[in-house]
Amino acid sequence: MIPLKKIKAFLLDLDGTTYISDQALPGAIEFLSYANTNNIPVLFFSNNPSKGIPEYVQHISKIGIPVAPEQIITSTQATIDYLHSENINYVYAVGTPGFVGELEKAGLHLTDKDPQAVVISFDLTLTYDKIKTAALLLHHNPTLPYIATNPDLVCPTDEGPVPDCGALIALLKSATGRSPVIIGKPHGGMVRLACHRLGLEPTDLAVIGDRLYTDILMGKDHGLTTILVLSGETTALDLEQADWKPDFVFDNLAELLNKLQQ
Ligand SMILES: [Mg+2]
Repeated sequence: MIPLKKIKAFLLDLDGTTYISDQALPGAIEFLSYANTNNIPVLFFSNNPSKGIPEYVQHISKIGIPVAPEQIITSTQATIDYLHSENINYVYAVGTPGFVGELEKAGLHLTDKDPQAVVISFDLTLTYDKIKTAALLLHHNPTLPYIATNPDLVCPTDEGPVPDCGALIALLKSATGRSPVIIGKPHGGMVRLACHRLGLEPTDLAVIGDRLYTDILMGKDHGLTTILVLSGETTALDLEQADWKPDFVFDNLAELLNKLQQ
């Protein structure tokens, strides 16, 4: 852990930290403007693979936050990095058109005939046919590599928490007995990508997020300073009951910004 003012770059979670649906959370716009003025790089960091990079740029810009495509890292990029490292080229993918488009752009071939892996994600276009195909592929080949983009059970929306990739992992576990390699936070794939992109070490970075078991655990496991905000999923009671604590806790980005400006 290093003092807040010595942090060289921030990895900033999106859902529940920067915004919820299309509403910026308190202090988000001001915090990013402070980082920009002080030349502190910020990378946006999300386990949510349901949007492609262009959709993220559009969504974040619409909220009033200027953003460049290279500032965004999602579990999609980390999953692609993992598939490449395993020499997997043909996959059966369960995902949104945005997710599938990113895989194709990265040179992966999508097929339901003899794929080298099944990849599942947070799919807002999920159908029974997709679940059935994934389950049958896993059933017929018990050693087929099986990868999931992120462990989150639910995604916060303005309507409330909705089923995320973790819930789909549970469904397929009950249907096939198989459990995937899970790539998103707290896995270190996105930290490695961020360090590579920034030319910095994990100890130079702080992760800011609203979830103990993804954002904060990833930071703790990979040597980053950890900053929890209580603007999303984690409540003060959850924090009190947790076995381990983040380095810093703030109500939201506005409170963090106040501290940085003191
Ligand atoms: Mg979050």
